[in-house]
Amino acid sequence: MYKPTKKDCKFWFNYYNELLFDHKLKQFRKIKFTKFQKECYLGWCIGYISPKRKIRYSKLILTPEFTSIDLFKITLIHEMVHHYQWLFHKVINHGKTFTKWKEKVEKLTTYELSERIPIE
Ligand SMILES: [Zn+2]
Repeated sequence: MYKPTKKDCKFWFNYYNELLFDHKLKQFRKIKFTKFQKECYLGWCIGYISPKRKIRYSKLILTPEFTSIDLFKITLIHEMVHHYQWLFHKVINHGKTFTKWKEKVEKLTTYELSERIPIE
């Protein structure tokens, strides 16, 4: 079992922000660990708009335990793509603005970007 800390999340966030997103992502406003009711969810990116200044930001929710660090990193990358979508395309889904990242993710990391995060 791999139990990430918020520090781990920020470390890997910075790593992939540079590797994949050219530093365009701002940090998640908040990172929270929650056991999901449905086992099939490992992560969740929730997009918000601040009411006054209309600034977009996201919160990241992760399961507290992953079966491996690889699964954690796959999940983080997946949620970072959603975060990018929210900031620059105003959507969070698995459509075109999600799938266009597949090639880059697969080229620059050893991971596959899939709509569904594999459960091990
Ligand atoms: Zn997703």
